[in-house]
Amino acid sequence: MSEPTIPKPTSEFIQVECPDCNKVQRVFSHASTQVHCQVCNCLLAKPAGGKCKILGKVVEPEKKAV
Ligand SMILES: [Zn+2]
Repeated sequence: MSEPTIPKPTSEFIQVECPDCNKVQRVFSHASTQVHCQVCNCLLAKPAGGKCKILGKVVEPEKKAV
């Protein structure tokens, strides 16, 4: 059989801060649907042909577990 598929590094989770309530949550960088804040339902990201457009404040790419 072929080798197991290795996830491509181009897709990742991003920590995005909501501009309204400052709640930080993870957003998938290639989300195919709109992502809303879990607290106030404000739109944080929307799909933009592959990589999604982040509308909130990007805090930092999620760090890998050490
Ligand atoms: Zn919010």
